[in-house]
Amino acid sequence: MLNPELIRRDFPILQQKVNGKPLIYFDNAATSQKPRQVIDALAHYYTSMNANVHRGVHFLAEKATEAFEETRQAVAQMINAPAKEQIIFTRGTTESINLVAASYGRNFIGEGDEIIISTMEHHSNIVPWQMLCLEKKAVLKVLPINDAGELLMEEYRQMLSTRTKLVAVMHVSNALGTVNPVSEIIRLAHEQGAKVLIDGAQAVPHYLVDVQALDVDFYAFSAHKMYGPTGMGILYGKRDLLEAMPPYMGGGEMIKEVRFNGTTYNDIPYKFEAGTPNIADVVAMKAAIDYMQGIGQQAIAQHEQNLLQYAVDSISSVPGIRLVGTAKQKASVLSFLIEGVHPMDVGMLLDAKGIAVRTGNHCAMPLMERLGIPGTVRASFAVYNTEAEIDTFAKELRRAADILL
Ligand code: PLP
Repeated sequence: MLNPELIRRDFPILQQKVNGKPLIYFDNAATSQKPRQVIDALAHYYTSMNANVHRGVHFLAEKATEAFEETRQAVAQMINAPAKEQIIFTRGTTESINLVAASYGRNFIGEGDEIIISTMEHHSNIVPWQMLCLEKKAVLKVLPINDAGELLMEEYRQMLSTRTKLVAVMHVSNALGTVNPVSEIIRLAHEQGAKVLIDGAQAVPHYLVDVQALDVDFYAFSAHKMYGPTGMGILYGKRDLLEAMPPYMGGGEMIKEVRFNGTTYNDIPYKFEAGTPNIADVVAMKAAIDYMQGIGQQAIAQHEQNLLQYAVDSISSVPGIRLVGTAKQKASVLSFLIEGVHPMDVGMLLDAKGIAVRTGNHCAMPLMERLGIPGTVRASFAVYNTEAEIDTFAKELRRAADILL
């Protein structure tokens, strides 16, 4: 069993008080806090090896390049990618999805082709496809959900056809916590010859993801939601697809030779990494992976699952409470409303007690529209959260309900 009290000691930020109360950080789906190991790795990079990568022959350049490429290897191993060249570093999930839309989309999707997304998608997995469809006159289709926040798989089967060129759906919902049946989604799409991009921003922090077992074509996620630094993300892609795709941006590093009468592009992954990359954060990401693997990703998942169940039980008797997102398969995201009360008011009263939750539409406006609500209050749990924190949260939520109702 994992001991969150011991783990908390690795997170300096959690030691502080907010509004005179010990900080209770339940906004992990937005971004997680960083352990000292990651913060130290960042400082260590700048104090001992800062240099540009892949360019110099000097000592520091080689050291920085080695550390940079070690992270690529660690990411590949973590998600069971066949080769480290299939791991592309980006700024985050958003950029990873935009890369696929701009490069794969612009070249392999045309007029009348169909792209399927779902009602519960984050704006990052909606807007790039809307932009592409406008440009290419392709058709965007939206897979509906039921009231519990689950994808309607029968409708999905009916939407798929040989016109479907791409399916882009999230693995885990940031707003509801729903874990989607992505294996089945991918298998059914492949039967029609469609490619699949999975937005894994909320999955990799909680689950062991195996891109080969999933047989997924593209998989995107962000370091900052998994105890790593901000400004660093990953795109995994199948080799044949990445090799067939043109570069997303032009500049240094992504070329083999530049002449005024023509330029030849570098091999993957460098073809997609124009300019000086976010070296320090990439290097520090390795410390985040080591940290998660040191605790054990299964143990983290189990702990978060226990917290979710404990939190559901703890707040179920709060007056006016309504859980939003009651899928059978759920990650540690607890979205709710107090009937008749604006989520922001609940968030502000909790903040006054040092409790950080998220309020609003969670970058999923179409989902909120479908559910007929302006937004929710969202508490999302990570490895360092405890049942004692949930006890305080439930007590303060009850007090907030008494004040607001
Ligand atoms: N997709 C999902 C499901 C998310 O939860 C988020 C962030 O909240 C994103 C995409 C965007 O991630 P980023 O802002 O790191 O690019």
